[in-house]
Amino acid sequence: MATLIIGAGCFGASTAKFLKETDPNTDVILLDQAPFPDPAAAAHDFNKIIRAEYDDPMYMKLALEAKEAWSQADPVVTPFFHRTGALWSITAARTKTLVDNYEALLGPGMAPLKILSLDETRVRFPLLESCRFEGGAEQCILSPEAGWADAAGALQAVIKAAVNRGVRYEVGTAAKLEFDSDGTCTGVSTTDGRSFPARRIVLSSGAYTPWLLAESAPENPDLHAGDRMKAAAVLMCLFKVPRGDTGLDMFKDAPVLVHPYGDFPAECIPPGSVGGPDLAKCTHEFPYTRNAYNKASKQEISVPPLSKSGRMTWTRDLPDALKANSANVRDMFFGNSVQGMTPESYRLCWDIATPDEDWIISPHPASENLYIAAGGSFHGYKFLPVIGKYVVQMLNGELSEEHARRWAWDRDFIPIVTPYTPRGDLRDVPGYYE
Ligand SMILES: Cc1cc2nc3c(=O)[nH]c(=O)nc-3n(C[C@H](O)[C@H](O)[C@H](O)COP(=O)(O)OP(=O)(O)OC[C@H]3O[C@@H](n4cnc5c(N)ncnc54)[C@H](O)[C@@H]3O)c2cc1C
Repeated sequence: MATLIIGAGCFGASTAKFLKETDPNTDVILLDQAPFPDPAAAAHDFNKIIRAEYDDPMYMKLALEAKEAWSQADPVVTPFFHRTGALWSITAARTKTLVDNYEALLGPGMAPLKILSLDETRVRFPLLESCRFEGGAEQCILSPEAGWADAAGALQAVIKAAVNRGVRYEVGTAAKLEFDSDGTCTGVSTTDGRSFPARRIVLSSGAYTPWLLAESAPENPDLHAGDRMKAAAVLMCLFKVPRGDTGLDMFKDAPVLVHPYGDFPAECIPPGSVGGPDLAKCTHEFPYTRNAYNKASKQEISVPPLSKSGRMTWTRDLPDALKANSANVRDMFFGNSVQGMTPESYRLCWDIATPDEDWIISPHPASENLYIAAGGSFHGYKFLPVIGKYVVQMLNGELSEEHARRWAWDRDFIPIVTPYTPRGDLRDVPGYYE
């Protein structure tokens, strides 16, 4: 019987590809709500940032492995990577942490970072001449090796590579996991009445994971996500940048910009994507939950709208209060240095956050044959070319002690607070409706 992967986003797609690479004879089904690449996946995006700057050495090491794949080692994804560099506003203490991490991994003096004062930054990058850098940033670091990827393109290429190796891609929405009388997971049923029996079931359904677990076994709290995972949405906006020396010319050779402080912690990926060479993507780092009552299990669970909603993908149909946040992000970064940037489209992009921002890549202790690969915590995409390798190691019981401990379903979740900690609910946003 097959290994069934539910969800063909970053975790699921990569897992499918690595399962086949590891064992060409194994039978793999990749089930997703839509033909690939699914526009509702967080991994399906205009672009995503690829960088190795992590305060946590474990993720920096993994991100360096992934960056090597993006920049040269993996021909499936290299065509989608753009090495523009990335510029971060940061504190001096955090810069030291990053330099120490790099040096521990790459050797003394090998941190690929250039430190700039805020004034030097404004001079070197005229598009940031009026950037407010508010909220505690002390300096900037320029990471020339970083950049962005055409996210949907790379996701599609990874799934295609998996399908070419024999993975069976099925379109269908998982409604409930199925269990035998011992509580062993035996497969999944879909909303259109089909059943997919499987030997191993990997749940990589991103933001929908806690809801799906609760729906599958409402009477069994041991199976539920509890406080381990929370679905949350972050607002992105594509700004059209007019031609000319105060418009697109300002973005020439611009790096990815990240300012994780102040009232509008934010990111901006400069124009250059195939789908919109004059569109800059600005993200407001402020995750909103959407708490809903799950009748079956009698609990509140944060979940994206379950009906097919245009808001899962790009739209102009969002409350003014959210649109104002995107405008504030634009103004915080560019003030009057870049002129005429007008909002073209918005998207609430859903991911699943864990309290410690570590992933969950783990057998589910409450059910044999059920495995979880989720919890991207708004930083998972860059690992697309490598994360499946670790999910396969988990399936085979071969994860390193550190990875197994850090990604376990049952672990001591020590909460951290970052700009990606969920801290508002969409239903409290004035004008929000579904
Ligand atoms: C606004 C935003 C910006 C981000 N920026 C970055 C970035 O710059 N760099 C970076 O590294 N990471 C970034 N991330 C994080 C990254 O996108 C996610 O961590 C990653 O995509 C998570 O992968 P996943 O496979 O868990 O979920 P997803 O990619 O969301 O995939 C889940 C898939 O499961 C499917 N699914 C769900 N339920 C079912 C069901 N019942 N039946 C069948 N299929 C189902 C979904 O339709 C979807 O296709 C960002 C995330 C967001 C939201």
